[in-house]
Amino acid sequence: MKPRSNSSTILNQMGKNRNTIFLIMCLIVHIGYFSVFYIMDAVPMALINAVSSIFYVLFLIFSKDRETSEKATVVAYFEIILFSTVCECITRNTFGFIYFVVGMVPVLFYLCPSYGNKRFIFQILGIISALMIHFTPSLVPNYFYKELFEELMPYARSFSFVNLLITLFTVLYTSFFYKLELDLIKKELDHQSTHDPLTGLYNRRFLYDVIGKESAEQISVILLDIDNFKKINDRFGHDIGDKVLKILSSCLREEEKDGYYPVRWGGEEFVVYCQNTDVDTAYRHAEKLCSLISESATLPDNSPVTVTVGLASGKREDYDAVVKKADEYLYTGKKGGKNCIVWHQNEAEYN
Ligand code: GH3
Ligand code: MG
Ligand code: MG
Repeated sequence: MKPRSNSSTILNQMGKNRNTIFLIMCLIVHIGYFSVFYIMDAVPMALINAVSSIFYVLFLIFSKDRETSEKATVVAYFEIILFSTVCECITRNTFGFIYFVVGMVPVLFYLCPSYGNKRFIFQILGIISALMIHFTPSLVPNYFYKELFEELMPYARSFSFVNLLITLFTVLYTSFFYKLELDLIKKELDHQSTHDPLTGLYNRRFLYDVIGKESAEQISVILLDIDNFKKINDRFGHDIGDKVLKILSSCLREEEKDGYYPVRWGGEEFVVYCQNTDVDTAYRHAEKLCSLISESATLPDNSPVTVTVGLASGKREDYDAVVKKADEYLYTGKKGGKNCIVWHQNEAEYN
């Protein structure tokens, strides 16, 4: 398996904490605006941002894991609506605080996936709020913070531009990490659909994928079946049976190399599919596997676990026939006493 690069680990970590990072970004914006309005002597605006900053500190304290940080994000969403309403009333819709609400409508969708369809209700509330914020300032009487408004007016375009930039950045940030999360989920599903959950080996489906894509000329198939596995289960219990399957799988993985695919074929049967491998090389590989298995897998009464192997080789196009042949050899080996490797060279001995 390829080691993950540092940058992708950092990105994945950021993705996992994207709500917390979002809350920190909101806190930074509020602290920034608090400072700017304080310097401008716009005390009510500075106060609103100070109160909001306190809220975000509380949200961050509350956000301990993914679930609580999503809850905090929903509460922050309503805080943003309230904050924008008040600020837009004071600034008569000239400072672009409404962008925050408009931007949060899609952002909430990306940041709170665990809320499922409830997100649509939140989004509708956000849309209604944005429309109300758009119209409310026209209902605000002229004398409402008149002096403050006139003082702030010359800076309206700059503030509006900065607010637009903040909003666009937030939308980009959240959609990027949402996509990253979807990619991770897809990767996990791909892994689950091509691997066996108990042993972690490839499954049959993966093998069909490999065969469908590969260009190897000659292939060899090593089919292994644990001897008397039913008895092992009956005598020592299913858990020990599972443990034996895992140990055997780790033996197959230990000997895994380029072009060799260890597969859990089903139950207590395994396949090692070997690309571009002639039958003699595959036989040596099978021998190595059998001795490794008998050394590594012992039962609670110290007796070794043994396997019977059927080995066949052929052209890739004849894959089904090769597997069938290996299965026939395996069957011959079972009839002939088990704990052996049967292939074209010794088939007669076991018949
Ligand atoms: P043989 O030597 O002829 O191969 O006999 P066997 O007992 O190994 O084969 P049989 O086909 O009679 O029994 C296979 C057993 O494998 C039956 C089933 O309960 C058990 N088995 C299949 N999958 C699992 C699993 O995931 N875990 C455990 N513990 N047992 C399993
Ligand atoms: Mg068996
Ligand atoms: Mg079997």
